[in-house]
Amino acid sequence: MAEAPLHYPPRVREVAPRREVDFAAELNEAQRKAATHPDGPLLIVAGAGTGKTRTLVYRVAHLIARGVRPDRILLLTFTRRAAQEMLARAEKLVGSESRQVHGGTFHGTAHRLLRRFGPEAGIAGDFTILDQGDAEDLMQLSRAACGLADKTKRFPKKETLHHVYSRHVNTEIPVGAILREEYPRFIEFEDDFARVFADYTQRKQARNLVDYDDLLLYWAMLVESDAARAIGDRIGALYDHILVDEYQDTNVLQARILKGMCRVHRNLTVVGDDAQSIYAFRGATIRNILDFPREFPGAAVVTLEQNYRSTQPILDASNTLISRAEERFTKELYTTRTGGERPWLVTAQDEPQQTRFVVDRILELHEAGTPLREIAVLFRAGYMSADLEVELTARNIPFEKWGGLKFLEAAHVKDVLAFLRVLENPRDEVSWYRLLQLMPGIGETTARRAIEALADANWDPGAFARFTPPARAREAHAGLVQLLDALRRSDLEAERGVARDILRIRALYDDILRARYDREEPRLADLERLQAIADGFPSRADFLAAITLDPPASSTDLGFGSESEDDTLILSTAHSAKGKEWDAVFLIWAVDGWFPMSRALGDDDQIEEERRLMYVALTRARDHLAVTVPFNVYQTRRGADYSLSQMSRFLDRGVVRCFQQVVLEATETLPEPEAPPSAAPVVDLRALVRNRFST
Ligand code: ATP
Ligand code: MG
Repeated sequence: MAEAPLHYPPRVREVAPRREVDFAAELNEAQRKAATHPDGPLLIVAGAGTGKTRTLVYRVAHLIARGVRPDRILLLTFTRRAAQEMLARAEKLVGSESRQVHGGTFHGTAHRLLRRFGPEAGIAGDFTILDQGDAEDLMQLSRAACGLADKTKRFPKKETLHHVYSRHVNTEIPVGAILREEYPRFIEFEDDFARVFADYTQRKQARNLVDYDDLLLYWAMLVESDAARAIGDRIGALYDHILVDEYQDTNVLQARILKGMCRVHRNLTVVGDDAQSIYAFRGATIRNILDFPREFPGAAVVTLEQNYRSTQPILDASNTLISRAEERFTKELYTTRTGGERPWLVTAQDEPQQTRFVVDRILELHEAGTPLREIAVLFRAGYMSADLEVELTARNIPFEKWGGLKFLEAAHVKDVLAFLRVLENPRDEVSWYRLLQLMPGIGETTARRAIEALADANWDPGAFARFTPPARAREAHAGLVQLLDALRRSDLEAERGVARDILRIRALYDDILRARYDREEPRLADLERLQAIADGFPSRADFLAAITLDPPASSTDLGFGSESEDDTLILSTAHSAKGKEWDAVFLIWAVDGWFPMSRALGDDDQIEEERRLMYVALTRARDHLAVTVPFNVYQTRRGADYSLSQMSRFLDRGVVRCFQQVVLEATETLPEPEAPPSAAPVVDLRALVRNRFST
């Protein structure tokens, strides 16, 4: 019998040295207790900056040090970036073994599991994922198929339909109840909603499409249904420990998934803060935290009250703001960080003055030694930083923006992705529809006919080549057939790659872009960017899944753009700032109608969610916090200009007392108007000059 070859010198796997973690020195008593908790369910519920995330990192380290196999640990976070950061920190504690921990979002993990186990449960493994925009477009097709596209009827738009559908799936609230609560004017259409949703579900399945909600729904069904028990048991057996950060922002489906995953071992650690719950609008519920001890009898509950992040004056302001919340479970926080000045409440005359203040103050902090990456400017919604972005660019201050309108939602980027999608999944009706209508001479009717021809041929891609378009679309049709053929053949070439696919698509598409959209330069630059991002992916399927599941929120995501070590200022929506911290934080536009947003004003629950969101924003700051309130802001609404000049309702008198008020001096005083020339000259220069030469 052949013996296994002996290697000399022996091959050793490079493992960063494991250091002994001194839990007692690096964590406080309650944190240590949580991090070293033995097996069994554990809930950590605590306020902002109390070290919840840090404790989770140490718990991962503890489990590995205790001998748990790292690839049998699942760490679920709100973004992929958050998981990566936590695992990088764990690596510093226990070495490179921690790299094998499975870290990511619920949706990303669902996707991975579904590709692997889906085929056994009747879900073909090559499904494509619909992002929210695609799902809405598909809903529109279902609406039309149900004969409800007639505009004279007051039937809801595709966005509303999708919202109700998604809310129903994520919260398990019956459709009728959602309508009564949120859209009483549509109650008469309850049966039609059901018809459209039935068509939508059937349509998705027939076309091998999976939307975001399906990812969670299928995962939940796999691990909890008796019919799928054989598969569910195998999925459950993949992990020995599951840890979840930001548990307050999970929904009913996610709680069901966790319960199903922990049927055997019950080793589940969840961490959250009810005062920071900011995704109820998407179906998240703090009931998941509150009901945890009941769902997992015998669960240990750890609370933390010491804040390690902020100075006492910043904490005072944040505590006061959240003390106004109607319901609250986590307690008031304290810190031992002494010193620090009171946060600033800055009133500006108008937006330009607010912008000037923020930029000047950033430069001042920077000159005093704070790196730009330790400074963040936060706002309620992505569009609110437009003026600031212009000024930062003009003054050459590098910045990175998180949240807001994402690069992948841009029409021209979606156009290019549609080509890749139909190649990946020829049944992707939404992408066919988009792609066909880009072609000169092809309108809605022709597109629909072409798709019917494809469907009749069981989505055989060849059916599109055989389709006869009207004369005016013949050239475009031939061009598209040729391109798709070339791309399909390129899969067999040695030098294939997603970036090369995009290059080929652009040979056809760039002209369409120029004809269709204004401002072609920045759009073409976006496509360059897309190509660069695609370069790092081994296959179309990987690329499409990655960008749909975790859309890059900024140019540095997905490894493109400046390195994260670069010294770049961060601009972020309050939502995207969750879990982060900076030395200095600016919250701009603290104006009623903007924060809280005006659309929240009619609803008490939404106002409470806005308040918690402002609490999240304020609690991001370590040493410096400035909230700015520009007055004299004009907005045009219903034809009449009206002024938004009310400070945010959350900054009531008690909260304001925690701030030092800063009034900006008008920096650009207009020069004194010159005195108008008087009728009689004071002096006659010409006479003087004349006189000089007079003899
Ligand atoms: P959030 O609610 O905002 O997510 P969190 O509770 O997750 O906050 P962390 O981000 O883990 O809090 O911690 C906040 C800061 O306090 C971090 O910089 C962390 O390193 C520090 N910190 C937490 N606990 C300790 C400790 N025991 N000793 C020193 N620093 C600590
Ligand atoms: Mg955290």
